[in-house]
Amino acid sequence: MAISDHVDVDQFMAGLVRRNPGETEFHQAVYEVASNVFDFIRDKEIYHEMQIFRRIAEPDRIVSFRVCWTDRTGNIRVNRGYRVQNSNAIGPYKGGLRFDPSVNQSILKFLAFEQTFKNSLTGLPLGGGKGGSDFNPKGKTNNEIMRFCQSFMTELHRHIGDHIDVPAGDIGVGAREIGYLFGQYKRLTNRFSGVLTGKGLEFGGSPIRKEATGYGVVYMMQDMLARCDDSIEGKTCLISGSGNVSTYTAEKIIDLGGNVVTMSDSSGYIYDKDGIDTDKLEYIIDLKINKRGRISEYAKEYGVPFFDSERPWQVPGDLVFPCATQNELSEADADILIKNGCMAVSEGANMPVEQEGVQKFVDADILFAPSKAANAGGVAISGLEMTQNSIRRTWSKDEVHESLQKIMHNIHEQCVEYGSNTGRKHIDYVRGANIAGFLKVANAMVAYGVV
Ligand code: NDP
Repeated sequence: MAISDHVDVDQFMAGLVRRNPGETEFHQAVYEVASNVFDFIRDKEIYHEMQIFRRIAEPDRIVSFRVCWTDRTGNIRVNRGYRVQNSNAIGPYKGGLRFDPSVNQSILKFLAFEQTFKNSLTGLPLGGGKGGSDFNPKGKTNNEIMRFCQSFMTELHRHIGDHIDVPAGDIGVGAREIGYLFGQYKRLTNRFSGVLTGKGLEFGGSPIRKEATGYGVVYMMQDMLARCDDSIEGKTCLISGSGNVSTYTAEKIIDLGGNVVTMSDSSGYIYDKDGIDTDKLEYIIDLKINKRGRISEYAKEYGVPFFDSERPWQVPGDLVFPCATQNELSEADADILIKNGCMAVSEGANMPVEQEGVQKFVDADILFAPSKAANAGGVAISGLEMTQNSIRRTWSKDEVHESLQKIMHNIHEQCVEYGSNTGRKHIDYVRGANIAGFLKVANAMVAYGVV
């Protein structure tokens, strides 16, 4: 086939949009990868002949199911549960579960698609999947959360397994929910296996799992800056969110001498110009993770301003870590951050910067680590939790931490390998991550033939 006969990105996207109407987040995620991969494979006939990209952008399967549970007043409630199994080309499906009212099929398809490339970048044998429910955990009692998790797992357990699909946490699913989900899986199957990750240390969890995503986001930033003979020390850092990823991103930045001045939740952000130190961060972890409170309470406790219903991108800062949710930083926000002198961005959440915002940062020569590279530390340690469960051993904190650092460094190097020589001042980390993540999955699919 002549190169001119190949489908181009726009033709491909027109077909994808037609086949997946209304799924805007999914379109956005596929477009971002397609624009780099189509360019890279232009003269690599085998990937065209085998329709590899078209096949990766069609999930292996999507399971959607009813979740019934009884609330504290005795009312029967009905939610929708999902599991999107995108690709098991290089290992069992792996990816988190999200409980949030915004959850829909488009968001889970985008997350499962992204997860496929992210998991490939870790170098571990992990396929890509994602799941969750439109259940809103806010304001629910512990018993309501437990009953919901049990009902959710009563259906999900048919579709997962330690060699099939291994879910973890995500927004709204932390250690408490993983405990309830694992308890119900064990009851239903009578098996104690590594079917979920992010488990408590007492029942098969791995040291460093809860810290891994946030620490990894900072290690990626550290590597990008080190290539430019710079470091995190003394830099003003903006973080959004105050959940799992945000708090451990903050912890590592403080550890490395950076000054964290913002954190947020879905109601607004706080600006502490003196910096959030270890004691203040402990207060936030207790407030947000243990007590499930609101970040505005920090403002009262420490006498700093709280900005209701706003995001922290107006504040001047050197390093930016969006760690809350998708599409939380717009093109206009990127303009303000660039004008205020920001140097680098490391994405902690999945796809937090809108496509046009990413382009702004790249065009302005701002170092930019995309989520599939920057936040891969969490799934990497989940992969190591699976290994520890298989061999029935728990490694030490130091062993796992060292592995995390090696894996993040290796991801950085893969981005450098495939993101160099683009004519830009810096490495194009977006391009590097997309191509490196694609290649391993694509080569496995070529080996399997048409399946
Ligand atoms: P958590 O539920 O622990 O924390 C989410 C944080 O983001 C909370 O502070 C929450 O505020 C805030 N938030 C949620 N939705 C919105 C919104 N629409 N607007 C503003 N703020 C919002 O989730 P995680 O920290 O686990 O996940 C955060 C992001 O990181 C997600 O994109 C997730 O997919 C990604 N990620 C997580 C990994 C992990 O290991 N946990 C691994 C890789 C990626 P509030 O308290 O008000 O709800």
